[in-house]
Amino acid sequence: WKNAPANLSLLLLASRAHGERLFTIHEDERVTFEANFRATAQLATRLREMGVRKGDRVALAMRNLPEWPVIFFAAVSIGAILVPLNAWWTGRELDYGLRDSGTRVLFLDGERYDRLKDRLGDLPDLERVVVSRCQGDQPAGVERLEDLIGKPNDWAALPEIVLPADPDLGPEDDATIFYTSGTTGHPKGALGTHRNLCSNIMSGGYAAARSYLRRGEMPPDPTPRTGLMVIPLFHVTACSASLMGAVAAGNTTVFMRKWDPVEAMEIIQREKVNLTGGVPTIAWQLLEHPDRHKYDLSSIEAIAYGGAPSAPELVKRIYTEFGALPGNGWGMTETMATVTSHSSEDYLNRPTSAGPPVPVAQLKIMDADCVNELPAGEVGELWAKGPMIVKGYWNKPEATAECFRDGWVRTGDLAKLDEEGFLYIVDRAKDMIIRGGENIYSSEVEDVLYAHPAVTDAALIGIPHKTLGEEPAAVVHLAPGMHATEAELQTWVKERLAIFKVPVAIRFVKDTLPRNANGKILKTELRGLFVDEKAA
Ligand code: ATP
Ligand code: MG
Repeated sequence: WKNAPANLSLLLLASRAHGERLFTIHEDERVTFEANFRATAQLATRLREMGVRKGDRVALAMRNLPEWPVIFFAAVSIGAILVPLNAWWTGRELDYGLRDSGTRVLFLDGERYDRLKDRLGDLPDLERVVVSRCQGDQPAGVERLEDLIGKPNDWAALPEIVLPADPDLGPEDDATIFYTSGTTGHPKGALGTHRNLCSNIMSGGYAAARSYLRRGEMPPDPTPRTGLMVIPLFHVTACSASLMGAVAAGNTTVFMRKWDPVEAMEIIQREKVNLTGGVPTIAWQLLEHPDRHKYDLSSIEAIAYGGAPSAPELVKRIYTEFGALPGNGWGMTETMATVTSHSSEDYLNRPTSAGPPVPVAQLKIMDADCVNELPAGEVGELWAKGPMIVKGYWNKPEATAECFRDGWVRTGDLAKLDEEGFLYIVDRAKDMIIRGGENIYSSEVEDVLYAHPAVTDAALIGIPHKTLGEEPAAVVHLAPGMHATEAELQTWVKERLAIFKVPVAIRFVKDTLPRNANGKILKTELRGLFVDEKAA
């Protein structure tokens, strides 16, 4: 170690201090911090033997499994760039991610392998494929993860070997390429550094601590907690904020196969889970579940989420009905998760805010020409700066030049700051509807629709209009057994908002609205729905 640079392998080494405490739980698989370390050292050694070098891309396409963090730390410790691919992607989309990143070594689970197997031969940079939990016979041309490191319950018995970490890795070296969610266009790879990921560790408990300080109270005892991870690790919130935070704090993380509120409640009761959340939808589905009272959920201390707009009612309901602290945070793939953090009383008092920036972040609101900074209270484009901002987009010099300037990232979100520096996200610039020159922020109308007792899901979208340019239209999902008509909901909005904001049409859908893997409504799909209906 030449100058003991800050990098993620130090975070992993430090986590050995948590020894026999459980790091991950997945069904009947239980992995301690020590076992996780041993498996990681073993896999890093294997990657070195495969010839993986600094800067090589190692991709990972699997659901949340105990091997996910092992592959992550093994790759980044030796200086490779880890590329977590969206497990929801189809074969064609996975193919895009692998080509775009120029991946040399690919780790997959059995399901992803089946989706991709016919394409693997055509990928120009791909040299090795390692499959975990392969169904049936081992296919030709691939290796099995189990043959390299064994199965999770056996990792504790692996020999104690030195982690072959790259001694020259520094904080500005590349660590990851996470793809954006693709809500507004094609997913872009955000090139993250070791510093970006490590900086999140500082941001975790900050908002809650501030609330305790204001009340003159002691924060809760620092015993490690158990968290239920319900969002996929290929999103920065899950990996960078939750997982890195858990590694640092010695927290246990329980993985679930896929989000299911009943299964989640069973796990919360069985494993005495203290922390959960991720995206607002998850909190809603727990709150509104008819069988909620059949489970003992009293271990839950906090439910925090971010990544998507949330209705202000959610905050109070989490507090009163779960007796848990609600939390919110704003961030994007380009900021490697947490930029603002909002919790406890601060959040209860300002339920429409996403909180103040964490201590290492700076925010500003810029005018449409990106020239002048706007004063408190005025809506403009949010820009963010700090050690969590990624270097830029992989392979996309133009988009990088457009969005990254002097250490700041242009977020594409319309927002305002109040006098105390609390952030209020108003809308995505691309989702704002301009009706005959009047701006309509979709989230404002959605919040009003959500507040109607019959409505459980709502989205406002712009539909084309000959003279006005665009008009607002809504898609709504009603709670089971509840009823509301289009006219009733229009009146409900009219009583609360200016007339030009009232949706000219409201469609009711049987299922909840289409969302991507981290809970964001896919408005592009909904626009299609209106076009089709108009044409019909
Ligand atoms: P793409 O950039 O590919 O269109 P995306 O922007 O949805 O996809 P992410 O990086 O996952 O990809 O999401 C970041 C966006 O999520 C932010 O720009 C913002 O619009 C939204 N967001 C994040 N946190 C919050 C929050 N707390 N409240 C409201 N919106 C949020
Ligand atoms: Mg984005």
